[in-house]
Amino acid sequence: SVPRLTGRVAVVTGASSGIGEASAEHLAALGAHVVVLARRAERLDELVARIKKNGGEALALAVDVTDKAALQTAADRVAAELGGADLLFNNAGVMLPAPVVELATDQWQRQIDLNVTGLMNTIAAFAPQLVKAAAERGVADLINTSSIAAQNIFPNFAVYSATKAYVTHLSRHLRVELGAKKVRVAAIEPGIVGTELQSHVTDEGALQWLEGSKEAMEWLTPQDIAQTVGFLASLPPRANLQQVTIMPTGQA
Ligand code: NDP
Repeated sequence: SVPRLTGRVAVVTGASSGIGEASAEHLAALGAHVVVLARRAERLDELVARIKKNGGEALALAVDVTDKAALQTAADRVAAELGGADLLFNNAGVMLPAPVVELATDQWQRQIDLNVTGLMNTIAAFAPQLVKAAAERGVADLINTSSIAAQNIFPNFAVYSATKAYVTHLSRHLRVELGAKKVRVAAIEPGIVGTELQSHVTDEGALQWLEGSKEAMEWLTPQDIAQTVGFLASLPPRANLQQVTIMPTGQA
């Protein structure tokens, strides 16, 4: 049988590791032509080679999503070479928890620059392609990676959580705005997933909190989230699953 995403062009940001990497592999296995985007070119090239070896189709674009011009150039290339994207998994993000009184203002800014501004830059670059694809083919998808931190209170996660609350709320608004144009919009809110995300944390207290969490429960895997992305994109065009919370079974 024909895989369910055959004919679709899926752009995945943050595809060089973790959730993005697993999702790109899964979407490719479901038949989509995937465009994998992140800064580390070597990692992307390895991923593309792996996808192709497994019979899939993939294109690597080494881009920093905080660089608006570079992102537009990348989007133009997707339009020229693949006819444009009809699925954007807007997933690149960084998590740097610390008590607010530590005044790690550079870390606050990095989270806002990537999780909010980078996410918006990516929407600006690809939304026109999604709208065009939806008009031509009846459906397109914008899936944003938020977090359970958008809803729940975790100690010392204020800035990260606020960036993710932005992502969830933005997604709810865009679902209405773009849904009228047949573009489905969803926010995925994962609980803790074992990825490189935790490796960037520098605050000692936050590191201890993560260590305790790892001992207390089995964390989600990137593949668990990839399955969710594939499910959202495979729903019939009339159905838009707006928000998905997926947690480790043992996470409070
Ligand atoms: P990873 O650190 O493994 O992945 C982050 C990805 O973002 C990498 O591919 C990284 O690649 C990319 N990235 C970072 N900065 C930039 C940039 N400036 N431009 C382009 N790409 C960039 O973490 P996860 O897979 O866990 O994170 C993916 C998303 O999931 C994030 O939005 C995160 O907030 C969210 N999330 C994660 C949870 C978890 O527990 N892991 C829970 C809830 C949400 P490169 O360095 O090559 O650019």
